[in-house]
Amino acid sequence: PTLHQMNMNQLNNKTFRAKAHELVDWIADFVENVENLPVKSQVQPKDIYNQLPENPPLESESMDKIFEDFQKIILPGITHWQSPNFFAYFPANSSYASLLAEMLMSALGAQCMVWETSPAAAELEERVMNWFKTMMNLPQNWQGVIQDTASTATLCAILTAREKFTNYKINKNGFEGFTNFRVYCSAQTHSSIDKAVKIAGIGAKNLVKIAVNEDLSIYADALENAIQADLENGLQPLCIIATLGTTSTTAMDDINDLGKIAQKYQIWFHIDAAYSGSALILPEFQHWINGIEAADSFVFNPHKWLFTNFDCSAYFVKDADALVNTFTILPEYLKTQTRGQVNDYRDWGVPLGRRFRALKLWFVIRNFGVKGLQEKLRFHIELAKELEVTIEATDNFEILFLRTLNGVFFRYKPKGIDDLATLNQLNEKLLLDLNNEGKLYLTQTKINGVYLIRMIIAQTNVEKRHVDAAWENIVNLSMKY
Ligand code: PLP
Repeated sequence: PTLHQMNMNQLNNKTFRAKAHELVDWIADFVENVENLPVKSQVQPKDIYNQLPENPPLESESMDKIFEDFQKIILPGITHWQSPNFFAYFPANSSYASLLAEMLMSALGAQCMVWETSPAAAELEERVMNWFKTMMNLPQNWQGVIQDTASTATLCAILTAREKFTNYKINKNGFEGFTNFRVYCSAQTHSSIDKAVKIAGIGAKNLVKIAVNEDLSIYADALENAIQADLENGLQPLCIIATLGTTSTTAMDDINDLGKIAQKYQIWFHIDAAYSGSALILPEFQHWINGIEAADSFVFNPHKWLFTNFDCSAYFVKDADALVNTFTILPEYLKTQTRGQVNDYRDWGVPLGRRFRALKLWFVIRNFGVKGLQEKLRFHIELAKELEVTIEATDNFEILFLRTLNGVFFRYKPKGIDDLATLNQLNEKLLLDLNNEGKLYLTQTKINGVYLIRMIIAQTNVEKRHVDAAWENIVNLSMKY
C-alpha cells in the first residue's frame, strides 16, 4: 500500500529543512528581542481559548498558517520567562547551548527508559551527574539520576525512606502495621514536600512544621524536641527535610546541625536545594554544606539557575540500591541482557519513559565551562548586592530580609504609614500595577503577615541596565501613590 499524501501542506524532508531554517532565525530574533515584549502575559482568562476553533482541522494546514496563528494567538498568551526583565518566582532559564541540545533531543526522539534503549543517554547521564559531584563538592560515594522536577525527586526521597525503613514491606503489603510515620520540615519548606507526604501515604497531619529562627532557617533545637516528643508518644520519625534556599526568601537551613540530629535518631535526611543548589559550584558557598555526608538524598534544579531548559532536576542519593529497590519492576517486555551491568534509569524514579535530558546538561556545562557558569552566577549575585545597597539608600523603601544570594526582599513604606494592613495593600497594589505595565515581572511573599516584594536576579541574559530600569520603574510608580 502507499500512503496517500493529503496535500502539499504536510511537511516533507525538503520543506521541513526550509521551515526549520526560518524557525531558527525566528528563535534567534526572539531571544535577542524578548526583553521588548510584555514580561507577564497581559491576556484575560479564555482570551486564547476562544480564538481556537472548536473542532480540529480535517484537512492539512500549511506551516505558514500555523506559524502565523502561533504568533497571533499563542505568543500574547506567553509569559516570558526568558526575558531579562523576568524577576519573578525562581527562573526557568534557557541558554543557546541548552536550546540546541533540546532541538537535537527532539530530533533523536529517544525514549531512554533502559540502557539498551539508548546506551549513550544512560552513560552520559551517569557521567554528567558525576561531573556535578565534582563541581559542587558533593560526596563521591553518592550516585545521581536526572528527574523531571524537584517535586518528583522529593517524592522519591520520601518513598525510599519509607521503603528502606520498612524493609520494602509497604510496597508489598500496603500500610499494614505502619501508621505512625512523621516527616519534619519548617513552615518555609516548599509545598512540594506537603504534596509528596500526601502522595506517599504518610498523611498531611504527620508533616511536622518546625519553628524557624529569625533568618527563617529551621530551629534545630525545636526539631530535636519534636522528634523526642513523637518518640515518647509512640510515633515513628521517618524523614527530615532541609531546604537550602527557601522559596520565599532563600533562607538556608543548617545542614550540619540537622544532619547530626538525623544521624542520632537514624532518620532519613533529604536536602531540597532546588534553586540555590547551583550556587554550590562557587567555592565561597561551600560552607552551606558542611556535614553534607550525613544526608541521604539531595536535589537541585539545573532548570532553575543553571541555564538548562525546563525540565531537568538533578537528584543524588547515598544508597542507590534502596532507591532502585523502591521503584524496580520487571515485566517480561522490559527484560534485557545487560540488566545488572548498567544503569537502567527506569528503576531510579516514578516514570518508565525518560527523555534524554543529560544531553542538554552536557552541552551547557561544556559550552559555558565551569568557569563560565561560575562567572554568570557571581554576576547575578553582584547585581543583587548592588540593588540591595540602592534600596537601602532609597527613601520610602526598606529591605526586610537579608540577602543570602541573588534575591532581594523589600517593601514600599512611605513615611508616616505604619499600619500593617495598609502597607500590605499598598505593596500588593504596587506589584499588581508594575506587572500590568509589562516592563518587568515580580512576585511576592508574606512573612509573619508582612507582604514583601521578591526580586530574583537570575535570568540568563540579565544585565545591569535591566536591573536599573526595573528599580527606576518601581520607584517612579510608587511616587504616583
Ligand atoms: N523546592 C524549592 C525550594 C523550590 O523553590 C521549588 C520551586 O520553586 C521546588 C522545590 C519545586 O520545584 P519543581 O518545579 O522542580 O518541582
